[in-house]
Amino acid sequence: MIKYIKKIFQIKTDILFVRMATIIGHCGVVYSLFIFNSFNFLLGLLSAFIVAGFVDVGYHRFYSHRSFKASKLFEILTVICALPAAIGSPIGWSGLHRYHHKHSDTKEDPHSPNNLSLIEMLTLEYNYSKFERTTFLIKDFLKDKWHKILHVYYFDLVFLLYGFILIIDVNAFIIICCYPVVYNYWTYIVSNYFEHINFPFYEQPYKTNDNSINSILLNWGTLGYTGLHNNHHANPGSWRFDTGSSWWEFDSGRWILTLFSKLKLVSLK
Ligand SMILES: [Zn+2]
Ligand SMILES: [Zn+2]
Repeated sequence: MIKYIKKIFQIKTDILFVRMATIIGHCGVVYSLFIFNSFNFLLGLLSAFIVAGFVDVGYHRFYSHRSFKASKLFEILTVICALPAAIGSPIGWSGLHRYHHKHSDTKEDPHSPNNLSLIEMLTLEYNYSKFERTTFLIKDFLKDKWHKILHVYYFDLVFLLYGFILIIDVNAFIIICCYPVVYNYWTYIVSNYFEHINFPFYEQPYKTNDNSINSILLNWGTLGYTGLHNNHHANPGSWRFDTGSSWWEFDSGRWILTLFSKLKLVSLK
C-alpha cells in the first residue's frame, strides 16, 4: 500500500512524462503536415476522436464520476484505447479531476484560471497546494489491485507502446499516438481554462459555485467533446452532458455511450 501511495505523490514526475508526450505529439503533428497525404491526415483525426471518446466516456464519465455501470471489457478497452493520449492512469487522472470538482475555482483548484495564467496552463503547470496529500478522493481505486499496479507502471506502458509503434512505422506512430496526444491536450486546455472564464458567447444556465460555462463555439468546435461544462458542473453525476438548457447542445459522449449500451458494454442509469 505504501508503495502505491508514494507513487501517487510522485505527481510531478508523472506530469513531466505528460509534458514529454505533449512535445513529442506536437512535433509529430507538425512533421505530418509536410509528409501526410489527405488519407493519412483523416486517419490521424479519426484516431484522435476515438481516443478522445474513450478519455471522455471512460476516464471522465466512468472513472472520475462513476455516472454509469460498466463491464470489465469496457474498463480494459478504455485503458488500452486511451493509452496513446498519455494522460496518466485512471487513479491519477480521476484524483486530480475529483479534486477539481470539489474545489472548483477556489484557491485549492489544481487547474483553475483563477490560480494559473494561460501560459502556466499551456505548459501544464498545476496548483498542487493540498492535492498532493490527498488520497481520500480515490478510496474506490485503492481497493482495486489492478488499478494500483496500472498506476505504478502506466508511463512504462505508454513508452513501450510508443517505442513499439515507432519501430514499426513512423506514419503509424504519428497517426496512433501524436494526433490523440495533441487533441487531448487542447481539449484539456479548452475544458479547464476557456470553460472556466467568460468565453465569447458563453452561457451559464445553471448557478454553480464556480465559473463554469457552456459555449456553442467550443461545443461545436470540438465536435461535441466538450463545451457543456456548466451543465456538467451543475450535475457531475449524470452520464449525459446535454440537458436541454440550449437548442445547440451537442454531446458526442452521449451517443458513444448509447452505442456502448446497445453493445452491452455499459449499463446507463
Ligand atoms: Zn471544470
Ligand atoms: Zn467532471
